[in-house]
Amino acid sequence: MGFRNLQAFNLALLAKQAWRILTNPSSLVARTLKAKYFPFCDILHANLGCSPSYTWWSIFNSLEVLRCGTRWSVGNGRLIHISDDKWLPNPTTHKVISPPHPFEDYPMVSSLIDPMTRWWKRGVVCALFLPFEADTILKIPLCYNLPEDKLIWIGNKRGDFTVKSAYFVAIKILDTRVEGECSSGDPNAQIWRKIWSLKLLGKIKIFSWRACVDGLPMLTNMAAKGVQTSCTCPICDEEPESLVHALISCDFALSVWSLWQDCPINLLLKTKNFNNLVLQLCSSSSALNLELFFAISWSVWYNRNKLLHDENGLWPLQILELAKCMVEDYREAFSLNTPPLPSP
Ligand SMILES: [Zn+2]
Repeated sequence: MGFRNLQAFNLALLAKQAWRILTNPSSLVARTLKAKYFPFCDILHANLGCSPSYTWWSIFNSLEVLRCGTRWSVGNGRLIHISDDKWLPNPTTHKVISPPHPFEDYPMVSSLIDPMTRWWKRGVVCALFLPFEADTILKIPLCYNLPEDKLIWIGNKRGDFTVKSAYFVAIKILDTRVEGECSSGDPNAQIWRKIWSLKLLGKIKIFSWRACVDGLPMLTNMAAKGVQTSCTCPICDEEPESLVHALISCDFALSVWSLWQDCPINLLLKTKNFNNLVLQLCSSSSALNLELFFAISWSVWYNRNKLLHDENGLWPLQILELAKCMVEDYREAFSLNTPPLPSP
């Protein structure tokens, strides 16, 4: 079959890696990623973190495919939240629709199972759920040895994870994202989805994300973490080196930005917040402008690091050209090839 939507195909391939990590937690990749990014929970509840590797970034972006394409199979019910998780064998939402209030004393599915009889507590189930839902729950078979709960794939009837079935789940997610793009929601989540969708080198995407969560080793950030260092900007030697100062408002950075003739926002207005600039660009500008914005930010940062390590710096025009070349080269390569995937 043909996979016409490359972004959905890419997500499906990444979701395959995430599925392997979920179902084979003792593999080396699973153990390595878990130790670094989700030591205290499973992969589906992991956070992106402020300095993710490109591999983790990409896999993280595909987790929504797993969240949408899986549901719990009840074992002992200890891992399954009654109202938050998908665990019912009904084909629409797989979630409980009975009014949520009565569940406060019974948050997990395990509270509905009698450990002595190893069967549902019929009285409790009938009291808590609407009759048709109680009926569905009482028909869910339980194993006598009450094993651990397990996530199962519901993207196809056989319950086997396949790239093809994950592709269709991904298409649905991408459609919903487009519909919900302008709606409210977590602005950070909107930003990282946007960054992930840009045609930029992995290192620039990672840099951009770190900038958006203020996770770059600016001197003021280092000092706040207790590192003995001067906070003064090493380029102009005038102001403390914050994120916005280093990337935007330092005189040297401004001399680079001023060369970007079609810059869609006025960077001379004293801005305090890098994220606000990004959100402004996300809502009002083309993807190409956003790519150029991040590439210039990266090049300014690259130049700052060169200078900090006593190497020769670049001229403002060279910095702008570097950024433009990186955007153009990547766009050109992208138009010839399928999107690159991180190595497994
Ligand atoms: Zn400065």
